[in-house]
Amino acid sequence: MSTPALPSIEEIASCVAGYDPNALTVAQAQDFIRRFVPRVNAVEKLAIRSALGRVLAADLVSTIDVPSHDNSAMDGYALRAADLKTDAPTALRVAGTGLAGQAYAGSVGAGECVRIMTGAVMPAGLDTVVPQEFTKQQDGLVVVPPGVVAAGDNRRLAGEDLARGEAALSAGRILKPADIGMAASLGRAELPVWRRLRVAFFSTGDELRSIGEPLDEGCVYDSNRYTIHAMLTRLGCEVLDLGVVRDDPAALEAAFRSACENADAIITSGGVSVGEADHTKRVMAQLGEVAFWRIAMRPGRPMAFGRVAADGPGSKSAVLFGLPGNPVAVMVTFYAFVREALLAMSGAAPVPLPLLRARTLEPIRKKPGRTEYQRGIVQRAADGDWDLALTGAQGSGILRSMSVANGLVVLHHEQGSVPVGGHVDVLPFDGLI
Ligand code: AMP
Ligand code: MG
Repeated sequence: MSTPALPSIEEIASCVAGYDPNALTVAQAQDFIRRFVPRVNAVEKLAIRSALGRVLAADLVSTIDVPSHDNSAMDGYALRAADLKTDAPTALRVAGTGLAGQAYAGSVGAGECVRIMTGAVMPAGLDTVVPQEFTKQQDGLVVVPPGVVAAGDNRRLAGEDLARGEAALSAGRILKPADIGMAASLGRAELPVWRRLRVAFFSTGDELRSIGEPLDEGCVYDSNRYTIHAMLTRLGCEVLDLGVVRDDPAALEAAFRSACENADAIITSGGVSVGEADHTKRVMAQLGEVAFWRIAMRPGRPMAFGRVAADGPGSKSAVLFGLPGNPVAVMVTFYAFVREALLAMSGAAPVPLPLLRARTLEPIRKKPGRTEYQRGIVQRAADGDWDLALTGAQGSGILRSMSVANGLVVLHHEQGSVPVGGHVDVLPFDGLI
C-alpha cells in the first residue's frame, strides 16, 4: 500500500471529536482507526470453492431467475385448485407424469391432474400440488379429500429465490457456505475477491524465549506470537512471523523495515508502555507516523497506532498496531481494535458483533470512565436467561482466563459496578475466537 495520498495522523486527529492521545475512549480509538486504514486494491478471481471465507470484491448480480420455472415443492399431484370441491372428495384423472428435469409437456383438461415429483416444472395451467400422502387411489382415479390444500400450495415460484437483475450478494461480504451455493445456483464458476491481507508480526522483549529454547532465569515463553498467529489465521490473513525481537534499536529497526516491505499491516506486542528497556516506541516514532495512546480501558491501556515506512514518507508503508505485552491485553486489544481494522483493510463491509445480555451470578466491580473487558463463562439458565460467571482472577497476564472463558464481558465506558442479578453485555467467543 504505497498510495501517497493517505491521510496523516494530524488530519485524522482533527476529525475525531475530543481527541487526546493521553485520554482516549475505546470508541474514539475505534473511530480514529476506521478513518485511517486503507483497503487493499488488488482483486483476484477464484473458483467458487476456493472463495469460502474471502471478501467479495464486486456485487454478484443474478442473470437468471432462480428457480427458472414454477416447480413442485412436494411429491404428489399437480392440479387446478378451482377443480376441487370444498365439501366433498374430488376424483381426478391422471393425465401424465412430470419428473425433475423431465417436465410433463402435454395438456391437462378439466378434472385432470399430473403425477409430479419435487423439483419438476409445474405443467401449464396447473397452480397447486397436493402431497401424495393426502390422496387415495380409487378406480384408477386420484381422490383428493376436501380442505387438504389451498390454491398455490406446494408450488415454488420462478425467481422466488433470486430474481434476474437482483444483487444476490453485495461487495464486501465475507463469503459463507450458503453464498458459495448461491453463486453455484446462478451458474457462476468464479468470483472476484480482494487479495488476502498480509500481516507481519513480532514480539519484543529480552525476557522472551521461543519454544525449544531453555527457559533462563526470569524468562517467559513467548505466547503472544502464537495467539496472534492463531487470531490472524481465523481472520483469513496471510501471516508473516518475524519472531522475537530483542529490546535493541538496531534489531527493532531491521524487523520494522522487513515488515514494511512485505506486509500491509504490522502487529507488535510489548514495548509500548513506559518501561526502561522498551526501545520500541523510539524506533516506531523514527520510522513513521505513530501515535502513542493511553486508552481508557482495561486491560490494554497503552497502545501505539499509525503507519511506518521502510524508507521514509512516500515509500511503501504498513499500518502499525503496537499492542501491549500482557497476553490478555494482546487479545483484548486485538478484538477491540485490530480485528475490525484488518477486516476493513481486507475490503469487508463492517458487520457489528452480536452481544449477549447475561445476568451476573456475582457482583462485578467497575469504575465509570473506562471500558473493561472481563473474562466470563455464560451458560443458559433454566428460566431461559443467560447466567454469567467470571473466570476468577482478571489480571492481564493470566492467559488462562481467556482460555477458560467463552466470552468477554464488555463493561461499557459509563457503566459502574453491577450487583448480583444485574445484566451485562457479553461478546461470545463462538465463531470469533
Ligand atoms: P511490556 O508491555 O513489554 O512491558 O510487557 C508487559 C508484560 O507482558 C511483561 O510481563 C512481559 O514479560 C509480558 N510479555 C510481553 N511480551 C510477551 C509475549 N510475547 N509472550 C508472553 N508474555 C509477554
Ligand atoms: Mg517489554
